[in-house]
Amino acid sequence: MKNLGVILFIAVIIFACSSYTQQDKPKKFEVVKTEMEWKKQLTPEQYTVTRQKGTERPYTGDTWDNHQKGKYDCVCCKQELFSSDTKFESGTGWPSFYAPVKKENILISSDNSLGMSRDEVLCNRCGAHLGHVFDDGPKPTGKRFCMNSASLSFVKK
Ligand SMILES: [Zn+2]
Repeated sequence: MKNLGVILFIAVIIFACSSYTQQDKPKKFEVVKTEMEWKKQLTPEQYTVTRQKGTERPYTGDTWDNHQKGKYDCVCCKQELFSSDTKFESGTGWPSFYAPVKKENILISSDNSLGMSRDEVLCNRCGAHLGHVFDDGPKPTGKRFCMNSASLSFVKK
């Protein structure tokens, strides 16, 4: 029984340390709102996708098949994220781009949810979940930014 106590003690310390490291580097976003404020501002789908890391069903969003010229802003904070110039036909049912307007406007974070290792794409200004980025995109970047229409607000040129 004494050994069990020691093991438990060590387990608690390891757990405490690992949760500490995770909280050690929280990203401070420029735009911070409460869950209630986001809920008020966004539609239920926009809220689920951007604030709860949801994924809209493919072929259901407003912009996967949008071929108009314009820009795509963050639906939460209106920061410009993507342009029709880098949008391409990915065949996935989600709006896809091979590059963001500016690298600094997005944040890439590793996402190991759902048993997959993926790179999550967030708005760097408000932390909105936008989608994921993959390495099977077209030239010149080879990247495929697979976004949710619900995260983006299209502004026609
Ligand atoms: Zn944003």
